[in-house]
Amino acid sequence: MKKSHRVYRDNNFQCSHCQSFVSTNPMIAGVQNRNHCPYCLWSRHVDLSEAGDRLAVCKGMMKPIGLTLKRTRKKYGMAQYGELMLIHQCEDCGRLSVNRIAADDDANLVFNIYKTALQLDPQKKAELEASDIYFLSEKEEQIVRAQLFGKS
Ligand SMILES: [Zn+2]
Ligand SMILES: [Zn+2]
Repeated sequence: MKKSHRVYRDNNFQCSHCQSFVSTNPMIAGVQNRNHCPYCLWSRHVDLSEAGDRLAVCKGMMKPIGLTLKRTRKKYGMAQYGELMLIHQCEDCGRLSVNRIAADDDANLVFNIYKTALQLDPQKKAELEASDIYFLSEKEEQIVRAQLFGKS
């Protein structure tokens, strides 16, 4: 018996963008609801209001378009940086969603998304930020590096 012929059926999926097979096992992903591919970071519009609800009918491809930081409450008046998050936009309906980065997402790819987002057309960026999602700018590069590659 070849091990490679073992098939995982539960919630694993094949990425519709790069065709990779993706495991949704939380032990590998490090998150409960993996909703994007760790190899190309694309996602699909399957969730309606909450991560993992799988209620959306759109099913469009969601492109990784930028990074943001999760808002956290400030404790003891100190500024705290939240967790780095990926911003996806649906190619079909334009919906934006903010998603946790999984443990096995390709850090270099995530960094490239950040770099690409810095080149966004200012008008488009303003439109996107009107939906209350803040795109990280050059100022946050140190934070992005520290979260992706660890502190040096
Ligand atoms: Zn993929
Ligand atoms: Zn959609």
